[in-house]
Parts: sequence; structure tokens; C-alpha cells
Amino acid sequence: MYLKALEIQGFKAFPDKTVLQFGEDITAVVGPNGSGKSNISDAIRWVMGEQSAKALRGSKMEDVIFSGTAQRAPVGFAQVTLVLDNTEHIFPSMEESEVAVTRRYYRSGESEYYINRQSVRLKDVTELFLDTGLGKEGYSIIGQGKIDEILSAKSGERREIFEEAAGISKFRHRKEESERKLERTEENLVRINDKIAELE
Ligand code: ATP
Repeated sequence: MYLKALEIQGFKAFPDKTVLQFGEDITAVVGPNGSGKSNISDAIRWVMGEQSAKALRGSKMEDVIFSGTAQRAPVGFAQVTLVLDNTEHIFPSMEESEVAVTRRYYRSGESEYYINRQSVRLKDVTELFLDTGLGKEGYSIIGQGKIDEILSAKSGERREIFEEAAGISKFRHRKEESERKLERTEENLVRINDKIAELE
């Protein structure tokens, strides 16, 4: 069981701190239209690092912050914490049996990310989820229309889906990062050689 709990505060239709505990069995969220069911899956997607406001059904990132109602004033920030089970070490880099990922976003545009209450970068959150089957590109959240999108994807895009599912995208990600470093180092070498040539 991966998901243990979700804490939502100031996110979309949840101004107050709301804690959802997920059991071992199937959890179904039911409610009238517009009552906030999809906002829960948006919160999960968002805390895992989603950067597209459109994917979260908004036009700008500020739209995730509770914007007030006739009875309630807007709030200043949105915060979501996702608590995941790690007893089977699905996150090999973490020793703890539980991993809590938190994202906080202020109206000023400032973002904060935490893993087990330690302040981290977005990159650390993205890397934590790589090849776990979770994460914003992990296909663990299947939105409306996603199946059609996968079926009509171009071969390159479909390959990325299989790479993520097979658990090798982490290595492609690291290879691309190393190639960028190598390129920068080669550029620096050219500059140093030019300087040496000038001095000779
Ligand atoms: P449906 O069954 O129609 O798909 P739903 O239960 O999934 O509906 P959601 O789409 O999750 O509902 O929630 C929509 C509600 O969330 C709307 O009432 C909308 O006003 C509210 N909402 C969305 N963003 C915010 C926000 N930033 N501040 C306050 N309320 C918000």
C-alpha cells in the first residue's frame, strides 16, 4: 500500500486542514457534482510536482489557492502533504518506513517543497518519484481522456511511457544531465585553451 494519507489545507475548495486516511482496501470518493472530488486527485498530482496549471484545471498556479466564498475570506497559501508507505522501500533512497512529501505555494508565487519535513528542491521531489510508478508522469493517475491520449501518442512519446513503466527513465534522466555537464565542461575547455593560446 503506497498512499497512507493526504493532508490538504488552503488548496482549491479546502480552506481548512482536511486529512484523508487511505486504508488497505479500495477507497472511493463520492459526492454531488462540484463538491470537490476531482480537487483531491488534483492535490495528489500537485504535491508530486505538477507544474502545469492547465493540468490542474486552472489558468495560473495561484488558482490552486482557496479563493474565498461568500462566507469565507481567501487564504494566503495552499499546502498539501502526501504520506506514503515505504516499508517495502519503494523509495530506495529513503530509510524511513514512511515518506511525507509536502508542497506549499504562496500568492507571491513562492514555492516550498519538503520531504519528511526537510526543505528540498522540486528536483528532489521529481527524482524521489522517478521509476516508482508514482509521480506526475507516473501514469498512476489516469485522468479523463488519458487512455485516448496514450493510444494516439506518437511512437517516441509511447516509448517514454514504456520507459517509465519499465523503470529505466531514471537512467535516461541522469544520462541527459551528465551530457549537459559534459557539454559545459567542453565549452570551458575551449575557453581555457583560447586563454592559453593568447598567453603563449
Ligand atoms: P464533478 O463531479 O462535477 O466532476 P467534483 O466533485 O469533481 O465535480 P471538483 O471539480 O473537484 O468537483 O470541484 C469543483 C469545486 O471546487 C467548485 O465548486 C469550485 O468552485 C471549487 N474550487 C476550485 N478551485 C477553487 C479555489 N481556488 N478556491 C475555492 N474553490 C475552488
